[in-house]
Amino acid sequence: MAGAELPCKEDIVMKIKAAVTHAQGEAFKIESVELAEPKANEVLIKIVATGVCHTDAVARDLGLTPFPAVFGHEGAGIVEKAGAGVRDLKPGDHVVLSFAHCGICDNCLTGHPTVCSTFNDLNFGGVHDDHTKRLSQDGTGLSTFFGQSSFGTYAVAHERNVVKVDKEVDLALLGPLGCGIQTGAGTVLNRIQPKFGTSIAIYGCGAVGLSAVMAAKIAGCKHIIAVDVHDNRLELAKELGATDAFNGKHTDIVKEIKAITEGGTHYAVETTGVPPVVRQCLQALRPLGQAAIVGVTPEMSIDVHNDLMAEGKTMMGVIEGDAVPRVFIPQLVDYYKAGRFPFDKLVKFYDFEQINEAFEDSKKGAAIKPILKIG
Ligand code: ZN
Repeated sequence: MAGAELPCKEDIVMKIKAAVTHAQGEAFKIESVELAEPKANEVLIKIVATGVCHTDAVARDLGLTPFPAVFGHEGAGIVEKAGAGVRDLKPGDHVVLSFAHCGICDNCLTGHPTVCSTFNDLNFGGVHDDHTKRLSQDGTGLSTFFGQSSFGTYAVAHERNVVKVDKEVDLALLGPLGCGIQTGAGTVLNRIQPKFGTSIAIYGCGAVGLSAVMAAKIAGCKHIIAVDVHDNRLELAKELGATDAFNGKHTDIVKEIKAITEGGTHYAVETTGVPPVVRQCLQALRPLGQAAIVGVTPEMSIDVHNDLMAEGKTMMGVIEGDAVPRVFIPQLVDYYKAGRFPFDKLVKFYDFEQINEAFEDSKKGAAIKPILKIG
């Protein structure tokens, strides 16, 4: 039945260039592929730039999506064509592409599309919501990733995960708002919602952690404590709003944080996924403190009584910043324009042809948030 997923031959309208991953763990290869027409509720987007995110590498290396596939899920571009049923997007609109969601399940309808009941199918299953693909190569379907596959010169996406953005802002910068930056900022502003004058510790100063730092400043936290193992990232965290910064390699984090905050932080955002750091993040909370777990963390053990229950602490998982992209991304753009969310300081641009180098740099810490300039 694999053939049923293929785009209909008569729907194939254009040849594009895309970074194809043919098998698990393989390098990206920029090749010629075919793209089908957008369906009634979809739009065709000319991709201008796409962010490089850890999730692309995880999906490629662990095989979370069927191969061959086109990854890329932080696309930014210009609407070229809108399907007949699209309500509020038109050719020429500047857009950011975010995660796919169904829009009709209880979680979507109550404002939590990040936990859409079909999130995994729509973002990792390799097909669009009608169970077909839009990309193909010599008659073989290519998996869609996050409902967009934006490592390509064009993409087709459902209107629901296409977010119109302000034309005054440099569009090439905005793709990462669709995933990594939305994740860090949204975890603070949508899920934790810190009270004025409280304290927060942020573990890991990559794109997600640093976005959480900027969001904590917007929220008015008194102590914003950044923890990382790279001094240059800690410097940047301070520039972006951290009041204190500690290198986890050389510091007794729990002791220092408890001293600064007189008993522990009210909140924590854990982005590293490193089990000993996850425990530190719980231990450095004050009684009734809340920890948001954002990093992909392996199975690990905690002392539930001492680390959690005895002091009434909460540990919660957060995906994609608990955001409604069409609401949250324009808000982040407004804060960026006002100089209060300077996420451009995290960004390093690469040409599309440098895609494998951008992933290498991201892996070894030479770039915080690489963005590929595509069109
Ligand atoms: Zn849903």
